[in-house]
Amino acid sequence: MKYTNAYPKYQFRRITDITVEDLQKMGAKAVAVDLDNTTVIDSSYKLPEETRKWIDTVRSAGIQVIIISNTIFTRAWYLGKKMGDIPFIAPAHKPHTKAIRKAAKMLGVELENLAMIGDQLFTDVISANKAGAISIRVEPMKKEKLFAGHFKKVRAREREYMKQYHNEKNKEKCTA
Ligand SMILES: [Mg+2]
Repeated sequence: MKYTNAYPKYQFRRITDITVEDLQKMGAKAVAVDLDNTTVIDSSYKLPEETRKWIDTVRSAGIQVIIISNTIFTRAWYLGKKMGDIPFIAPAHKPHTKAIRKAAKMLGVELENLAMIGDQLFTDVISANKAGAISIRVEPMKKEKLFAGHFKKVRAREREYMKQYHNEKNKEKCTA
């Protein structure tokens, strides 16, 4: 298998399904969130009310939140303001790990106590796994309209990867 690092440690349907208790059990003292299709609809400047509430709840529990997004600087800055003036790193150039390592430093936590939450295996999950952070994958909020052709391929690759991963795990179990 080409990418051994793309398998998420945890999986949820929506970011809002992840409870403070879940995060604490994972050992997360800080969470890095992706923007598109994880906290906001793809390419949108609108912050969904449920996302804002979730961020407030997590922060009230003493868990820090930072944005790590491949979007442009100004959009991450704008959404960060709306999320309650939270820090951000953008453009983050995921799957490179630099932003993840930088976030841990900025927030003063160890990488193993930083959870990265995102919808894409080959950017969000890979960068978290490679950096030694906790990878959490959520399902994309909505079908991407912008770059639809590109995303169709990305999602097909993700499905193929998950299928292959499970097949190989099954084989291991059978031969063990
Ligand atoms: Mg995304």
